[in-house]
Amino acid sequence: MAKSKYEYVKEFEKDDKMLQNVFILVRIDGKGFHKFSAAHNFTKPNDERALHLMNKAAQTVMKELHDIVLAFGESDEFSFLFRKSTDLYQRREAKIVTTVVSLFTSAYLYFWNDYFPASQRPKYPPCFDGRAVLYPSEEEVKDYFAWRQADTHINNLYNTSFWALVDQGGLSPKDAEIRLSGTDSKDKNEMLFTEFNINYSKLPAMFRKGSTLLREMVAKPPKGEPTEDGSTEETPGNVETKASKEERASTVEDEGANDGVLATDAA
Ligand code: ATP
Ligand code: ATP
Ligand code: MG
Ligand code: MG
Ligand code: MG
Ligand code: MG
Repeated sequence: MAKSKYEYVKEFEKDDKMLQNVFILVRIDGKGFHKFSAAHNFTKPNDERALHLMNKAAQTVMKELHDIVLAFGESDEFSFLFRKSTDLYQRREAKIVTTVVSLFTSAYLYFWNDYFPASQRPKYPPCFDGRAVLYPSEEEVKDYFAWRQADTHINNLYNTSFWALVDQGGLSPKDAEIRLSGTDSKDKNEMLFTEFNINYSKLPAMFRKGSTLLREMVAKPPKGEPTEDGSTEETPGNVETKASKEERASTVEDEGANDGVLATDAA
């Protein structure tokens, strides 16, 4: 086809191919979810429906983008790890980040009513942002996930303590904040147990440690037989992949301690 005289404008686009042979990590985060969660009456500190909806949206992304091997979510964020050798969109950053963010957002809305009452659709369209980060080796990848999981733990312990003081202790948000300032995690655990009869370590693992989605290899059924999801679609090779949700049993128990299962699973 002959080029039009306008086509030169395409040359203004920048080449944003990401470096070869390094891990691509994409993290998305909800915009203004402090407000969004309040507007939709999320249970504090953890609305389970909202967390499961986040997991469902992430699973949708993993089902579409097969080069994502691991994902980790907490609160209004999710991190997606691509395999080192991925050639998705020739590793073009904008294509990859925008596809992840857009698919995540549309899945979040598409599945909303599976988690929230059918009569209640979102009051306004939620929005997520996204970024890509490159990590050269498994060490940084492990530390990355340990960092996010430590964040989950620190925030959750704080939020659990804060809402116990407000909801059960009758303190104003301001007084709860003052009460918690200068406390370490031991103080918070102690306070939760003695004053509110909450054994922090017995709270759901998803609250304390976030959600991990792992792609696992599944043996392909013999030719012609339907797969688990009922399709007979051909997949290359003798394996197919599926996204599975797993709640991790152990890892970060306290600030600073960050070795654990994620490390082995990410490898
Ligand atoms: P920004 O646009 O800068 O990301 P934000 O308001 O989204 O601002 P975050 O630091 O991302 O701020 O925090 C997300 C907030 O969303 C949490 O502090 C919490 O108030 C709320 N939130 C997210 N998920 C849940 C949930 N499952 N249950 C209760 N609250 C939630
Ligand atoms: P890619 O993922 O590479 O963008 P694509 O299938 O989306 O692949 P495009 O070049 O973006 O390819 O073209 C979009 C296609 O979507 C059009 O070729 C057309 O077939 C279809 N399409 C989009 N909007 C409409 C519309 N309003 N009515 C009919 N067909 C449409
Ligand atoms: Mg943000
Ligand atoms: Mg946010
Ligand atoms: Mg956030
Ligand atoms: Mg298109």
